[in-house]
Amino acid sequence: AQARLLPGKTLETFDFAAVPMVSKAHVGAITAGDSWIGKGDNILLFGPPGVGKSHLSSAIGLALVENGYRVLFTRTTDLVQKLQQARRDLALESAIAKLDKFHLLILDDIAYVTKDQAETSVLFELISARYERRSMLITANQPFGAWNAIFPDPAMTLAAVDRLVHHATIFEMNVESYRRKAAENAKGPG
Ligand code: ADP
Repeated sequence: AQARLLPGKTLETFDFAAVPMVSKAHVGAITAGDSWIGKGDNILLFGPPGVGKSHLSSAIGLALVENGYRVLFTRTTDLVQKLQQARRDLALESAIAKLDKFHLLILDDIAYVTKDQAETSVLFELISARYERRSMLITANQPFGAWNAIFPDPAMTLAAVDRLVHHATIFEMNVESYRRKAAENAKGPG
């Protein structure tokens, strides 16, 4: 499989106690897939850097692959660059259509895409094309209010957010960075 998941990031190695708002049972139900993937529903993971959004999303992807789904994990900026190249080659539509083979597209770090990164309307076209047909799992370290920095104009941001949240499960992982906490614990008390 060409899922490009993150090595070693599994549900077994994910410490659910660190994110009390994300229940292990809920994630277990999500990895069954059938209740949402078949309908093209989405999952959105919000939270500051280091709280485990990439780890959890890749782990969910792995569990879905094990359950027979086709999944692609990609940093959003990488995919946007590929789609922009496809558009320059007049092949954007077919590039987006090719992604249909994946039941789930995991877009990590959507907020790292910026308008300066040339024209990002390709992202909007992708979201529109998959709407109510193919699922996406998107991670973001910025709340929707900051997404105007991602899309070329506010109307497009609104339309994109609208499509993404219409049928979505949203996890707000507003906890302390796991990395920082681990580093502090390693220092020991005092
Ligand atoms: P984010 O995507 O939110 O920036 P990452 O998933 O990259 O965060 O997590 C940063 C590092 O901390 C990774 O090595 C990840 O495996 C680890 N990590 C974060 N949260 C957890 C957790 N709840 N359990 C186990 N490891 C975690």
